[in-house]
Amino acid sequence: MRRLWIDGEFTNGSTGQSIQVVDPATEEVVDVVPKGGVADVDRAVAAALRAFAAWKRVPALQRADLLVETARRLRANQEDFALTLTRETGRTLRKNRGYVDWSATCFEYYAGLIRDRRGRVIPSAEPGQLNLVIKEPMGVVGCIVPFNYPLMLIVWKVAPALAAGNTVVIKPASQTPLTTLDLNRVFDHFPKGVVNIITGAGAEVGDALVMHKDVPCIAFTGSTATGQRIYRMGAERIKKLHLELGGSDAAIVCADCDLEAAVRAVAWTGFLNAGQVCTSAERVYVEQPVHGRFLELFSALTGKLVVGPGLDPKTEVTPLIGSKERDQVDARVQQARREGAEIVTGGRRPEGLPKGWFYEPTVLKEEIFGPVVPIMPFSTFDEALALANDSPYGLGATLFSTDAKKVRRYYEEIQVGNVWVNDPLVDNPAGPFGGMKMSGLGRELGEEGLEEFQQTKHVHWDIEARIKPWWYPLC
Ligand code: NAP
Repeated sequence: MRRLWIDGEFTNGSTGQSIQVVDPATEEVVDVVPKGGVADVDRAVAAALRAFAAWKRVPALQRADLLVETARRLRANQEDFALTLTRETGRTLRKNRGYVDWSATCFEYYAGLIRDRRGRVIPSAEPGQLNLVIKEPMGVVGCIVPFNYPLMLIVWKVAPALAAGNTVVIKPASQTPLTTLDLNRVFDHFPKGVVNIITGAGAEVGDALVMHKDVPCIAFTGSTATGQRIYRMGAERIKKLHLELGGSDAAIVCADCDLEAAVRAVAWTGFLNAGQVCTSAERVYVEQPVHGRFLELFSALTGKLVVGPGLDPKTEVTPLIGSKERDQVDARVQQARREGAEIVTGGRRPEGLPKGWFYEPTVLKEEIFGPVVPIMPFSTFDEALALANDSPYGLGATLFSTDAKKVRRYYEEIQVGNVWVNDPLVDNPAGPFGGMKMSGLGRELGEEGLEEFQQTKHVHWDIEARIKPWWYPLC
């Protein structure tokens, strides 16, 4: 049984209840964590608030050194973290090693950025006045993340939040809390209470964190439905909300592109992490003359992908996070089949894997949500852009083309925050990531990702302290 980490101490949850964490590849219980309650949120927020008073005054250079040490500890424990990630998410060990390294890089990036951050001295409007624009931390930041990238999505929030001088309370998804609880190992050189980790049900612990009067800022990644709920709750106290929500990303494949490269890239974006990536290709539009050939190559590649557990080095496609999620995908595929959709490849549970929540990588000719890639034809580039933009979401999109005129039109017209050309799903610690429309508010990573956790003050300072002619009494 793991324990919560509050004020630098391990502690049992206040409710006495627990949550089982199950390996998606074997259906076996990996570990048990406390199902925390409102009292645990109160204790964690109180600890973070106490710690904030001193932490916000720690010089940026010292904060940067602590972040660099976190990166070092992540790398030193890379194998342990990667293994735990594989056990709780089902994802491949190979990928998880990369995510641990990437997370360390993110801490290093924000350590570098905060060392060189400054406010501004602006021109004064009055003689004798000094005008300063200064950036301050917000206070206690609540970080709530989903199951699909438990480590990385915490790091995208916690690294900039700590760099900016905030303290944090972290709440992972109930399906994947283990790596998060293990993070005490990379944060226990920070002052007590700067980082706190609690587990428990979103509807209880998550709600309590969002509603807490001493938490002015919530950084959330998850479904649009939960994001909308948090938005409504946050409005009550005019909280600063950072929301990274769902998407319905399109990929446009033009006839002028390298078709084989596009086939491989689209398969990767569609089936990586069993399609449980917020920026998975969920709609693929292929230009009419190459549509048939694309479908042929894509189906051939998909049919050969190795489905299996993440611990097996040969595995290419891993299981879904839970039986409910796997059954939902299957139900949608079967419904599409009944409605006349042609299933080109896959469309069922794989044979030879009686345990685990696996689903065959599937190619459809119509659109459907899930780890399933629908491939549809288009005739003109205008039509492709209109189709790609015809969504309430605006997270990401990819264009496959070598025609610079098309590329420019695409990045000007596409209504998404993450715009990829010939190279989908790549992230860059220095580049902002986030969505438009119903995909969210704010940006993670880059300078924008730091500013999410800062507030601005404008200081008007009359150094000469003279009486002004417009003050009372008027003369
Ligand atoms: P979810 O159900 O919204 O859960 C996300 C987190 O919110 C979990 O920690 C959950 O806790 C918590 N939560 C649930 N109800 C809450 C409430 N009322 N108040 C506060 N917190 C609450 O999302 P999911 O199904 O785990 O994740 C998949 C979704 O995340 C997809 O829609 C995907 O597109 C999106 N996503 C977006 C991005 C992005 O960057 N835009 C990245 C990754 C994923 P429990 O687990 O305890 O319920």
